[in-house]
Amino acid sequence: MKIHEYQAKEIFRKYNIPTSKEKVAFSLDEAKNVAQELQYPIVVKAQVLVGGRGKAGGVKIAKTPQELETHTKAILGMNIKGLTVKKVLLAETIKIESEYYVGITIDREKQSPVLIASASGGMDIEEVAQKSPDKILTTTISPLLGLKSYQARNIGYQLFNNANLVNSFISFTTNLSRIFFDLDCSLVEINPLVLYAVNNEKKLIAVDAKIVFDDNALYRHPDMAVLRDLDSEEPSEAQAKKADLSYVKLDGNVGCVVNGAGLAMATMDLIKRYGGNPANFLDIGGSSSPEKMREAMKILTADKNVKAVLVNIFGGITRCDDVAQGLLWAMREEKINLPIVARLVGTNQDKARELLVNSKITFSETMTDSVKKVIAFLKG
Ligand code: GDP
Ligand code: MN
Repeated sequence: MKIHEYQAKEIFRKYNIPTSKEKVAFSLDEAKNVAQELQYPIVVKAQVLVGGRGKAGGVKIAKTPQELETHTKAILGMNIKGLTVKKVLLAETIKIESEYYVGITIDREKQSPVLIASASGGMDIEEVAQKSPDKILTTTISPLLGLKSYQARNIGYQLFNNANLVNSFISFTTNLSRIFFDLDCSLVEINPLVLYAVNNEKKLIAVDAKIVFDDNALYRHPDMAVLRDLDSEEPSEAQAKKADLSYVKLDGNVGCVVNGAGLAMATMDLIKRYGGNPANFLDIGGSSSPEKMREAMKILTADKNVKAVLVNIFGGITRCDDVAQGLLWAMREEKINLPIVARLVGTNQDKARELLVNSKITFSETMTDSVKKVIAFLKG
């Protein structure tokens, strides 16, 4: 579960991580009101549950109340990566000297939490990681001992040439690590961690904040679970949750409908392997009715990037004829005209094949064959 920057910053402050003086607002009037308690220049920041707001025009600095009004009007209602901005955070602007990155997440290969830091913070950390991985510093964190101060100091000295800043960095990372473990997070991140000067003294401050909680542990944190903002999640993902489907939107163009998370992952891997790009992860679950199948197709094809669909079902409790029925339904009612390749094996597979024999759906016997066929459709 993701939370907004303003919510994450409240948690930061509880853990003694310094942030800018700031207030959240849900409307223009409210923004004008809360701005009176802040000093200009004020940075107006879109509160949406995706990264890259800055690049999308969702972060603007206002020097006057007039500019604050203009920026707030522009940002409220703005669409960032498919999400509508419904709140803005107003923060007293920091005079940035340099931007760093610091975060804690799980490194699956190392099977351990890791602290990640870089002097090349700011908006393009993903690019830095790809093009110059040597600029990314990491250290694994023992889940039993937590982050030790010598580990943080070691990284701190590679980033700063001043003992005060290194000590401050140690306190930032120690507190981040407390948040990470206390609250069962899968990610805590400050990007940028900002170096600035007050009366000639250099200091660090968190200018952005990101926290992602591990959904499987949310039951242990009811006070965090209530922060979930369904209204701000990917609309298709929220719709899928209601229909009891596990759906995650991705960037590719091959829509996938699969039963079982393992098979869904394997299907996505195979699509990649043959040069395609999955548009989503979608697990329709064990006991799938035609209605659920139809809902899945509806959610999937609402994504305009989807150019072909692969249905990969291993029928156990799930009956292949139910899936076929749902598919036909969806095609008719939702007017779906995309190429569809279906590999339906297991319970009632013959019935399923009979149902689909006069449809436009391409039948396939094996997983590899079905993936090759769907990719062939894309290449025309
Ligand atoms: P993101 O693009 O979604 O990660 O949003 P951020 O909160 O990280 O803001 C993006 C960029 O806006 C930062 O990297 C800064 O360069 C700039 N920015 C944000 N807040 C401030 C601020 O208080 N002062 C200044 N000068 N720049 C800011
Ligand atoms: Mn950021």
